[in-house]
Amino acid sequence: MGPLMTKRTVTVLGCTGSIGVSTLDLLGHVEDEVEIVGLTAGRNVARLAEQALQWRPRVAIIEDESLLPELRERLNGCGVVAQAGGAAIRDLAGEGADWVMSAIVGAAGLAPTLAAARAGSIIALANKESLVCAGPALLAAAKAAGGGVIPVDSEHSAIFQVLQPVSPGRIARLILTASGGPFRTASIETMAAATPEQAIAHPNWSMGAKISVDSATMMNKGLEMIEASYLFDMPPTQIDVLVHPQSVVHSLVEYTDGSTLAQLGPPDMRSPIACAWSWPDRITWPAPRLDLAAIGQLTFTAPDEQRFPALRIARSALTVGAGAPAAMNAANEVAVAAFLDRRIGFLDIASTVSETLDRLNGVGDLDAYNGGDALECAMMIDVSSRRVAAQVLSRFERIG
Ligand code: NAD
Ligand code: MG
Repeated sequence: MGPLMTKRTVTVLGCTGSIGVSTLDLLGHVEDEVEIVGLTAGRNVARLAEQALQWRPRVAIIEDESLLPELRERLNGCGVVAQAGGAAIRDLAGEGADWVMSAIVGAAGLAPTLAAARAGSIIALANKESLVCAGPALLAAAKAAGGGVIPVDSEHSAIFQVLQPVSPGRIARLILTASGGPFRTASIETMAAATPEQAIAHPNWSMGAKISVDSATMMNKGLEMIEASYLFDMPPTQIDVLVHPQSVVHSLVEYTDGSTLAQLGPPDMRSPIACAWSWPDRITWPAPRLDLAAIGQLTFTAPDEQRFPALRIARSALTVGAGAPAAMNAANEVAVAAFLDRRIGFLDIASTVSETLDRLNGVGDLDAYNGGDALECAMMIDVSSRRVAAQVLSRFERIG
């Protein structure tokens, strides 16, 4: 069919998650172009083994080392090498596959994504936290090694697709759309009492638990604002958020002549993944199509920063710069995990992040970010922010 005859080598980091599964599904439509060399997962050993038996990569890696015996047993005799641990994942990512899907959740994705960048791979980037923690260094490493970063986050894929080659200063604004999540119209009292089940029930997208909670607090949009600033080299003052409950317009770029370009599509992550696979070409696959007549209406409103303070927190972290975004991300990961564990309430997530940043700012810890190795700096900030966040959230913790 297509003119592309040689197979590209592919590694999927986080293959068992929501994005990982969508990636393998999409790659199944272009199977003749794909040679999977590595698959990695955190703890879901059953799904990892199943995917490895189907795709026959050279190596399958489980991060949790206690699960290696089970992985070995499940892959016994099939010719796929079973490995375990974060270092093995990072080494695999650093082997320089042609195309690497970065779909681990959280700051845990940073080390392997940076390794892939340094190896010159084309990185399809879903793991927004790695950009938030070390965006400039990650992008510079990819550029220096001759690879590239293609965003998979639907908003950033949209912007990437509609960005025109214009002179510097000709982009007025990037406008990130947000569904508003499950609490878009909820009262503050309802939000205060929200359970993890309610928070992860996203109206439009089916995603992993962490990003689903981030969507509910709108910290997801905060992380995406930072991600957009680094990816497209735009200051926080030129990045806006627009609530759009139908999730059809995935984001927009406004140019200085008043023209605004948008990208539209059904809420299916296989579409931005397909784009990241074939860019600047397009593949043909039986994608779900947009039926605008059936949808009928698209609506837009300004976000409510009172009920969703995460937007303000993220904008401020981006403005502070240096280690603040990495610190914000780490505190958010700690707080979301505590919420999912039912140790703190929903509104305590943003309070924990905000107070952690205040405390870290106060002691000048964030300045340690400048100078030295980007990964080490980001990890140092990550560790100290997690420590402070754990102290901060103990105040909110429910008793019994
Ligand atoms: P998920 O929780 O469904 O999957 C995460 C994957 O990472 C799994 O394969 C898991 O086994 C692995 N993993 C978890 N912890 C790990 C660790 N410490 N070390 C190694 N591997 C680990 O998450 P997801 O929804 O697929 O999201 C993945 C990333 O993509 C996140 O950064 C998220 O923000 C981003 N993203 C997701 C969507 C979506 O629709 N799901 C959309 C845009 C961006
Ligand atoms: Mg997104």
